[in-house]
Amino acid sequence: MNGLLWFAAAVTVFWALAYWRVAAPAWLIGVGSYLGALTLWSGADAETKVLLWTIFLVVAGVLTVTSLRKALISDPLLNWFRKALPQVSQTEQEALDAGTVWWDGELFSGNPDWSKLFGTPKPRLTPDEQAFLDGPVEQLCRICDDWKITHELNDLPPEVWQFIKDKGFLGMIIPRQYGGLGFSAYAHSQVVQKLATRNATACVSVMVPNSLGPAELLLHYGTEEQKNHYLPRLAKGLEMPCFALTGPDAGSDAGSIPDFGLVCKGVHEGREVLGIRLTWEKRYITLGPVATILGLAFKLHDPDHLLGGEEDIGITLALIPTSHPGVNIGRRHLPLNASFMNGPNWGKDVFIPMSWVIGGKEYAGQGWRMLMECLAAGRSISLPSSSAGAAKMAARTTGAYSRVRSQFKIPIGKFEGIEEALARIGGNTYAIDAARTMTAGAVDLGEKPSVISAIVKYHCTERGRQVINDAMDVHGGKGICLGPNNYLGRAYQQIPIGITVEGANILTRSMMIFGQGAIRCHPYVLKEIAATRTQNPAEASGKFDDAFWDHVRFVLANAARALWLSLTGARLVAAVPGAPELRRHVQQLTRLAAGFAFVADVAMLFLGGDLKRKEKLSGRLGDILSQLYIASTVLKRFEDDGRPQADLPLAQWALEDCLNRIQAAFYGVFGNFPSRIAAWKMRFLVFPWGKVFSPPSDRRGHEVARLLLEPSQVRDRLTANMFLHKHEDDPVGRLELAMQAAPAGEAVEAKIRNAAKAGVISGLTEESRTASALEKGIIGAEEAAQYRRFSALRRACIMVDDFPHDVGRMQSAREPANVAEMGSVVSQKTAA
Ligand SMILES: Cc1cc2nc3c(=O)[nH]c(=O)nc-3n(C[C@H](O)[C@H](O)[C@H](O)COP(=O)(O)OP(=O)(O)OC[C@H]3O[C@@H](n4cnc5c(N)ncnc54)[C@H](O)[C@@H]3O)c2cc1C
Repeated sequence: MNGLLWFAAAVTVFWALAYWRVAAPAWLIGVGSYLGALTLWSGADAETKVLLWTIFLVVAGVLTVTSLRKALISDPLLNWFRKALPQVSQTEQEALDAGTVWWDGELFSGNPDWSKLFGTPKPRLTPDEQAFLDGPVEQLCRICDDWKITHELNDLPPEVWQFIKDKGFLGMIIPRQYGGLGFSAYAHSQVVQKLATRNATACVSVMVPNSLGPAELLLHYGTEEQKNHYLPRLAKGLEMPCFALTGPDAGSDAGSIPDFGLVCKGVHEGREVLGIRLTWEKRYITLGPVATILGLAFKLHDPDHLLGGEEDIGITLALIPTSHPGVNIGRRHLPLNASFMNGPNWGKDVFIPMSWVIGGKEYAGQGWRMLMECLAAGRSISLPSSSAGAAKMAARTTGAYSRVRSQFKIPIGKFEGIEEALARIGGNTYAIDAARTMTAGAVDLGEKPSVISAIVKYHCTERGRQVINDAMDVHGGKGICLGPNNYLGRAYQQIPIGITVEGANILTRSMMIFGQGAIRCHPYVLKEIAATRTQNPAEASGKFDDAFWDHVRFVLANAARALWLSLTGARLVAAVPGAPELRRHVQQLTRLAAGFAFVADVAMLFLGGDLKRKEKLSGRLGDILSQLYIASTVLKRFEDDGRPQADLPLAQWALEDCLNRIQAAFYGVFGNFPSRIAAWKMRFLVFPWGKVFSPPSDRRGHEVARLLLEPSQVRDRLTANMFLHKHEDDPVGRLELAMQAAPAGEAVEAKIRNAAKAGVISGLTEESRTASALEKGIIGAEEAAQYRRFSALRRACIMVDDFPHDVGRMQSAREPANVAEMGSVVSQKTAA
C-alpha cells in the first residue's frame, strides 16, 4: 500500500510538472523534492533509494550540462531528424513557405486562447460596400435569368456582361487609385455569396477575375508600368482576364507543367528585343474563351544564358494579349451546364518580349512562389462564399417547400425523415457561413491563411454538397425536372465544379490540410526543420537543441492536459469566454485541441516522412484540425451575432456535429495507426472513457428543422444577403409568398377539412368544398380569399415545367405550358 501511494505520488508529480510545462530547473526541483521526501519518509530499502538518486543525478547531469545534453541526445537526434525528414521539392517548399498562420496555430498549440478569437473584430461593410450590395449587386441578380443563361444562351446575355463591366464587378480587389472598387475581402465575399444565390454563371464570371489571376498578381508583383497600364483597364472591364496554369498533363500536380519558354532574341513591334519563345497547351481555363489578356504559367529555360544565370530558371508568369499572333483561344468546354466561359488555349513558338513577364525579368522563375503567396486570399473567399450562397438558397427554399408541399395531408416538413434532412441543411448552412465570414475577416486583418484557406475551401464545398443533396432529396421530382421553375437543379449539377477547382478536394484533404498544417502551424517543427538546414554545425546544434527540448515539454504538456481534461470532461477549464450557453462546447474543444496536438506529434514521431504517403491518416488528422476550426467559427459567429437565443439550436447543432466528427476522426487514427501500442496509449490519453460525443440528437434536429419551416428572424439571419424577389413570377419569390400565406391558409383548410369530415359540406374538388364552406358560413369571405390565394400559390410552387417532344432540337424552350398557366392561376384565384 505504502509503495502504491508513493507510485501514485510520483505519477502526480510527473503529471503536474508536465501539465504546467515548467522549465528544466523546475523539473529538477520537483523530482528532487519528491526523491527527498521518499528518502526521508518512505519505507523503501536503502539500495532502492541509492538507485533512484543515481538515476536522477545522471539524468539531471545530462540534461542540465549543455555540452553533455547536445553530445548525447540533441546532436544524434538532429542527425536522425535530417535523414527522417521527407524529401521536399522546391515547389512543395514554396507552398509551405507561403501564407501566414493564424487561428490554426492556436489550435495546433493544444491550448487555444479563446479570448483572442472572440476579441477579433467582427467583419463589417463600409457604407460604400453596403450601397454596392444593395444597388448593383441586387440589380445584377435581378437581370440574371438562370434558365435563359444556362439553357437558352449558354452564356450571359450581352447586357449582363456589359453591366458587370460597367459597374466595376471585375475590379473589386483593385484599389481605388487604379479605378477599382478597392473592396475588403469581406465585401468581396458578400458580393460573391449573394450572386451565388441567383446564378452561378454570373457568380463565377465575377469571382474569377477577383481571385488568383492577373489583377492579384499585378498588384503584388507587377512593375509600375504594368500596373498603370493594366489595372485601370481591368477595373473598368476594358480587359477580360483569365489565368492559365492547368494543362492535360498537369492538373493537381500543377508544378509539373510541361509548357515551356526559351529565352531568346526576337522581333517585337519592329525592334529586336530580349524575349521568350513559348509553347503551351492549357485547358479548363475560366473566362479563357472571352479573355483579352491571358495570364500564362510556364517553365522558363535560358540555354544561352542571356539572362546571365542558371539554364533552368523555373516557373514564370506572363501576361499575353490574346490578340497576339500565335495565341489560340476561343473554343470552350461545357462545365456541367454552368455556362460560364471556360476553355482550352495553346500556342507554339510564340515570341513575347521579356517585359510581358509579370514583374519583369527580376521575377522570372519566381512564378510558383508568387502563385502560392497569392493563393490563400482567393481560396479563402471564392469557393467558401459561393458555397455559402448555394447553401442559403437551398436552406430557404427547402424549408419553404417542405412547408407548402403536403403529402398524406401533412406538410412534408413535419415528417421526421424530412426533419433529419432539414436539420442537416440548417446546421451545415450555419457552419458554412460562419466559416466563410470569419475567414474573410482574417484576410481583412492582413492574414494570408494558407492552411485555413485549404480547410474552408474543402469543408465549405463538402458541406455545401451535403446541403444541396439533402435539398434535392426533400424536393423530390420538383428538384429533378429542369426548367425555368427549377431553382435547385443547376446548383446540384454544378457542385462538382467547386469540389474540383482551386485544389481538388481529395488532394486538399489528404495532402494539404494536415501535411502543410503539421509543418506550418506547429510551434516547433518549423524551427527544427530550419535547424537541419543550417549550414554552420554549432549554430545548427544550438538551434535544434533549443527547439527540440521546448518541443519535448510541449508534447508532455499536451499528453498531461489531454488526459486531465478528458478524465474531468474538461469541466474544470476555467474562465471560458463567450456565451454561457456554449461554455461546455468551448471546454470540450479545448480538451480536443490538447488531444489533437498530442496525437499530431505522436503521428509525426512514428511516421516521419511516411506521413506524406499515409494520406488516410493524414486526412483524418486534417479532419480533426478542420472541425476544430469550423467549430471555432461557429462560436465566433454566435458571439458576433450578439448571442441571439433563437439561433442557439443552429449553433448547438453545428458544434455537436463538429465534436462528433472530431471524435470519429480520432478513432479513425487510433484504429489504423501502424503501432498498436502507440494507438492504444493515445486512445487512453485522449478518450479514457471511450466515445463521449453523440451526433446532434433528434430533439436538436427537430428544433433546427422547425426554424426552417416558419418565416422568422432566425431564418432571415440564416439566409441573410440572399437575393429575394418576392413576386409570383419568380420561382423562389413565389415560394416565399406561399410560405407567408401558409399559416392563415392552413387554418382555413383545417376548418374546411373538418367540416367535410363531419359531413356538413360536400364537394369533390377543393374549390367546390371551399364554395360550400363559404355558403354554409363555416368560413368567411376573407378566409375563403386567403385560402384560395394560398392554394393557388401552393399549386404554382409544386408544379414543374414540361416541354414539347422536340425540346432537344429547340433553340429556345422558353414557354413551358405550366409557367404560362401558373401566373394566371394565382391571379385568377386571388381575384376570386
Ligand atoms: C470548371 C473548371 C474551371 C477551372 N478553371 C481553371 C482556371 O481558370 N485556370 C486553371 O489554371 N485551371 C483551372 N481549372 C483546373 C483545376 O484547377 C483542375 O481541374 C484541378 O487542379 C484538378 O486537376 P484535374 O482536373 O486534372 O484532376 P487530376 O489532377 O487528374 O485529379 C484527379 C483526382 O485525383 C486526386 N488526386 C490527385 N493527386 C492526388 C494526391 N496526391 N493525393 C490524393 N488525391 C490526388 C484529385 O483530388 C482528383 O480527385 C479549372 C477546372 C475546372 C473543371
